[in-house]
Amino acid sequence: MDDIIKDHTFKTWSKQKGWNPIIVDHAKGVYFYDNSGKKYLDFSSQFVNVNLGYGNENVINAIKYQLDKLQYINPSFGAEIRAKATQALLEVMPKNIVKFFFSTSGTEANEAAIKIVRQVKNPSYKILARYRSYHGATEGSISLTGDYRRWFVEPNTMPGVVRYPEPYCFRCPLKLKYPDCGIACANYVDYIIKQEKNVAGIIVEPITGTNGVIVPPKEYMPTLRKIAKENDTLFIADEVMTGWGRTGEWFAMNLWGIEPDLLTTAKGASASYIPIGVTGVNKEISDYYEDHIFAHGHTFEAHPISLAPIPAVVEEYKRLNLLSHVKIVGEYLGKRLQELKERHKSIGDVRGVGLFWALELVKDDKNTPLGGYEEKYQGIPTFTDYLAKKLLDKGMYVYNGPSWLVISPPLIISQSEIDEGIEKLDEVLKEAD
Ligand code: PLP
Repeated sequence: MDDIIKDHTFKTWSKQKGWNPIIVDHAKGVYFYDNSGKKYLDFSSQFVNVNLGYGNENVINAIKYQLDKLQYINPSFGAEIRAKATQALLEVMPKNIVKFFFSTSGTEANEAAIKIVRQVKNPSYKILARYRSYHGATEGSISLTGDYRRWFVEPNTMPGVVRYPEPYCFRCPLKLKYPDCGIACANYVDYIIKQEKNVAGIIVEPITGTNGVIVPPKEYMPTLRKIAKENDTLFIADEVMTGWGRTGEWFAMNLWGIEPDLLTTAKGASASYIPIGVTGVNKEISDYYEDHIFAHGHTFEAHPISLAPIPAVVEEYKRLNLLSHVKIVGEYLGKRLQELKERHKSIGDVRGVGLFWALELVKDDKNTPLGGYEEKYQGIPTFTDYLAKKLLDKGMYVYNGPSWLVISPPLIISQSEIDEGIEKLDEVLKEAD
């Protein structure tokens, strides 16, 4: 079985040679099992997306119900599930987000956002995006993506993308120190917009995800939001990874009480039981389209089966009281990770919020970068790849970046399951010291 998978299907973001996939057979709660029966603790929710864990009966039943009732209807028709999913989104999203376009991935959610901001702000067309960012894999969204590890075909840049620096305080790109820096990385954006002119929008991951779980200082996001507003530039929150309780709030924008003009999300919207992407817009944008053509769409847009889990997911979060659970166990996880930092000199930084954390590894002391970006770009295994492999051997999955491990377990995780993961990390990190 592994031969047919590796010989005839692609491993993405990777050279094909040497891929030897673990064949996963089934999963329940925070564990998955391979075809030899070996059990793995999922300490990253896969790609930070299996938020409700595995085998949630209520979500599965909602999908089965919809499958029996109406499996497809083209998106120019309405369907009861479209109304119910929209109602659920209106309940949990920032209150100013009032209209939705449904697709099937985070990438597509951002592609739609690009088209919307450019149409609404026409003739302005430029979009600001950060260096350390990931917004998706297709031409528009990969162009917004600032992480060069993801670029393999040059030139891959859609015209009009302008970069701005990230609030990566551990190694500040502006070589400043918080709080004396006065959030220069955010304030500089005002200058960029004024110099560039024709800026239609600014996109931001509230907490940078695949580029190392970068949590901004508290003043950062309100400053960025204010600058966007003052310059009449649309503010797009890419909550593909940060949404759906990951930070202990429905959406990370709630951490700062911010209402974005557009909000894109995916992964957690269905708790990953079915592919889904959502592009939400405010009333001003919604009103604009009353008299303008919404020049976008897909055959599988607003697919009834994609929409089916959304109301069930919202119900499950309420039934399980997940937002407050994330706050409680998230604080515990943060404390346990800090303890690891005290024990292991290979950990340079521990950062995160809710159940979204990173351990950034360093070489011999607390300041020497471990590197890894260049290796990743060239397809050479990094030290964190090695650690991730060791963790798999010990029965735990952790999603790794070039020089960090992402610790983001399913939101249903218990304190004792966190302890189990910390114990495994402790054992493997001993090798890194
Ligand atoms: N935006 C962010 C912030 C992401 O983290 C991701 C995926 O990890 C995407 C967009 C792309 O989403 P997808 O993989 O569903 O296309």
